[in-house]
Amino acid sequence: MKTFLESLKFPVQEVNRKSSSEKGPGRPPYWEMVFYWTRKPLVGARAVIAGALLPEDLDENLFKVAIRLSSRTPHRENPQTPAEFAKYFEGKKLLDPFAGFGSIPLEGLRLGLDVTAVELLPTTYIFLKAVLEYPKKFGKSLIKDVGRWGEWITEQLKNDPEIRELYDDDVAVYIGTWEIKCPHCGRWTPAIGNFWLARVKDNKGYKRLAYMKPEKNGDEVEIKVIDLNEILGDISKAKIDGNEIIFEGENYVKTVKEAIRSGKLKQNDVKIDGNKVIFKVPSANIESRRSQLTCLMCGNVIKYADENGNHHMKLKNGDFYVKFALRKYHEGDEHFARQRLLVKVKIDERDLIFEPATREDNERLWKAKEKVKEMLEKGDPDVPSETIPLYENRRITPILSAEKWYQFFNPRQLLTLIKIVRLIREVGKKVEEEKLKEGWSAEQAFEYAEAVATYLSVALVNQVRHNCIVTSVEPTRKFVAHALASRGI
Ligand SMILES: [Zn+2]
Repeated sequence: MKTFLESLKFPVQEVNRKSSSEKGPGRPPYWEMVFYWTRKPLVGARAVIAGALLPEDLDENLFKVAIRLSSRTPHRENPQTPAEFAKYFEGKKLLDPFAGFGSIPLEGLRLGLDVTAVELLPTTYIFLKAVLEYPKKFGKSLIKDVGRWGEWITEQLKNDPEIRELYDDDVAVYIGTWEIKCPHCGRWTPAIGNFWLARVKDNKGYKRLAYMKPEKNGDEVEIKVIDLNEILGDISKAKIDGNEIIFEGENYVKTVKEAIRSGKLKQNDVKIDGNKVIFKVPSANIESRRSQLTCLMCGNVIKYADENGNHHMKLKNGDFYVKFALRKYHEGDEHFARQRLLVKVKIDERDLIFEPATREDNERLWKAKEKVKEMLEKGDPDVPSETIPLYENRRITPILSAEKWYQFFNPRQLLTLIKIVRLIREVGKKVEEEKLKEGWSAEQAFEYAEAVATYLSVALVNQVRHNCIVTSVEPTRKFVAHALASRGI
C-alpha cells in the first residue's frame, strides 16, 4: 500500500512555502536558544512524518487540517490529529540516527510517536535533552525556575568583589584588539580590521555614524572616537563614498569650524572643501589574507617572521608576523603581542556612547591575566584547557594561533566565564536540595536540578559566543557580531 507522502495529493508546494517562511521571519522562538547551523523546518518534518504513516487514499483536506497547514505559523501549534488517525500512529517508532537540533524527533513527539534521537556531538546531545526530554517531563515549572536561578546568578556576579574590580558598572561593551611590537620601530601598534563603530541607516538616511581614529602620542597609539552625531547633530543627509563620509552645505562647514575652534575636532580630523565637509574613516591596518600589518606608529609594513622572530619582507613558507607573535603570546612570551582595549561603549536611553579606553582600563585587563596565570599553574579544572580539535589538519583559527579553548578569551572574559560555570554548578546543588525538601525522590530531584542547570548552561553558551575575542563589532545593525556569525550557512 502506498503512503500519503507518495501520493500526488501530498501538498508539497504548500509545505515548501510554510517551511521557507519558518526559516525566515517566522522562526520558532526556541531556535534562539542556541546558534545552530542546519535546522530543518518543523512544519516540513511534521508533514513528512505524518504523510509517511497515513494511507494514500486519505482526504487531502483532513491531512492539511491535522498538520495545521492553514495556520500562518503551523509550528506554533501542536498537530490536531483526529481519532481515526490513531490506528496509523499508535505504536509506531521513529528513529533519527543523526538528530542534530532535533526538529524531526520533536515533530515525532508532537504526533504522539515513540521517538528515539541519536546524536554524536556531546553539546548537541545536551541541546536535545533541553528540546525533547525536559519540557515533556517537567512542564512549565522549568520556565519559572530557570528564570529565578538565572537572576540569582546575575546578582551574585554583580556583587562579586573580583568582578566589581574588573569591570565598570556603566560600561556595556569593551572593544579591544591585539597589539604587535613593530619589528621596524620597536613600538606597539594595534591591529585593527575595522575602524567603524556605528554606521546605521534607516529609511530617512543615516542615523548613527562613529569611527575610531588612531593618533600618535609619544611612543603610543591613542585611539580617538569621532562621533558625528555628537559633532553635527542631524547626520541623516550624510553620503558615504568608500571610506569617506561627506556632508554638503554651509551649515555643516560652519558647525565643523566651530568644533575645531572649541577643540572638539582637530584640523586633521576633517577636510573642508568648498561647501563640503569630508571625514575619512581609516582603512584597516591588518590584512590577514595578504599577511600584512601596517604599523600605526612608523607606517612600515610588517610581513613575515622566521622561527626566531626576525622580520622578513619576503620569506618562503614564512609565517605571518602576527601569527608568530600570537603563538608566542599563547606560549607565555609576551615580547611580541599583547591585548589592548580601544573603546568602551555605554548605553544611554537606547543610544550608544563611545569613549576611548583609558590606561586604567587596560591595566585592569592585564591584572586579570595574573589571576588566570595562577589558575593555569595550579591546573584548575575549571579553566577550559582542552585542545581545540583539528579540522582537515588545520586549526579553525589560523591567525589567532589558539590551540586551547581558553585562548579564545581575554583574561577578564575567562575569569567571568569560570565564575558563571561555578555558579551554575552551585545552582544545581541548590535546586536539588530544594526539591528534596519538597519531598521529591532523590532521582527526580537530581534530574530536575540537571534540567535547570542545562538551560542555564545553554544561556552560558550564548554568553560565550558574544564575549570572546572572536566576537566582533558589527557597525551596521546589531553592533555586536557573535563569534559564529561569519560561519553560519
Ligand atoms: Zn613601527
